[in-house]
Amino acid sequence: MRVPVLAYHAVNIAGNDYANNDHVAFAADLRLIDDLGLRIVPLQWVVEQVLGTASRDLDRCVALSCDDGSAFDFHDLVHPEHGPQRSLYNVMRDFIAERGANAQPDLHLTAFVIASPEARDAMDKACLVGRGWMSDDWWRQAQQTGLIAIENHSWDHNHPCLDAPGPDGMPRGSFLDVNNRIRAKEEIAAAARFIDARIAPAQTRIFCYPFSHVADYLRTDYFPNCGSEHGMLAAMGDGAEPVTEFSDRWDLPRYICGWHWKSPDVLRGILAG
Ligand SMILES: [Zn+2]
Repeated sequence: MRVPVLAYHAVNIAGNDYANNDHVAFAADLRLIDDLGLRIVPLQWVVEQVLGTASRDLDRCVALSCDDGSAFDFHDLVHPEHGPQRSLYNVMRDFIAERGANAQPDLHLTAFVIASPEARDAMDKACLVGRGWMSDDWWRQAQQTGLIAIENHSWDHNHPCLDAPGPDGMPRGSFLDVNNRIRAKEEIAAAARFIDARIAPAQTRIFCYPFSHVADYLRTDYFPNCGSEHGMLAAMGDGAEPVTEFSDRWDLPRYICGWHWKSPDVLRGILAG
């Protein structure tokens, strides 16, 4: 198995071109992946393959994910500067309408969302424009479409805009400071419980490290040893290589749009391996 996992951020809207708008890139990339004869599969399948709990043919496959759980993942919204934006969900619907449901029968996007309503509200005001774009009212509906899985991107991202300190005196701004059991329980297990209550009967099973900060304590201790507390099966980092059966389940690599690639040509190279 050699599956590249691609990551997008729907709030990355600095224009309306491939290089500065993740919605534009996502739409183009779906078509590029399809044109290359690759198959899009759910990230969950890739995780199950790494864990050995499933044995699917994942030859020439790609998995898709998006981070931070803004409403731009699911709803078309009007950006104050750059105008109407097609949601990542509707970009997938457009792709299906254009190429047919059989073109990519397993088309799927895994959306990593932030649990805490207070933290989302603070980020909405500090980092966006305070229009309620970090709500959770779309999670259940998105999950029920079958095209999106809602997964765990922590309790509050330990974002620098939040009141300090965080749990157990944790300084704000780095996820590397999630380095003990008290902080981990708050950031990961509490987030899983909150999100699960909103998407039931679905359940979160995959974590994604905020800021791609793979805290050593989490990777080597909390995740492997406290499974009954957090319920996660795997965690996503940013290793910029394909996931293989030899990947570390607590630091599965991804490629980040706008960082590891900014053009279809570079993505083509990544996908060609
Ligand atoms: Zn994030």
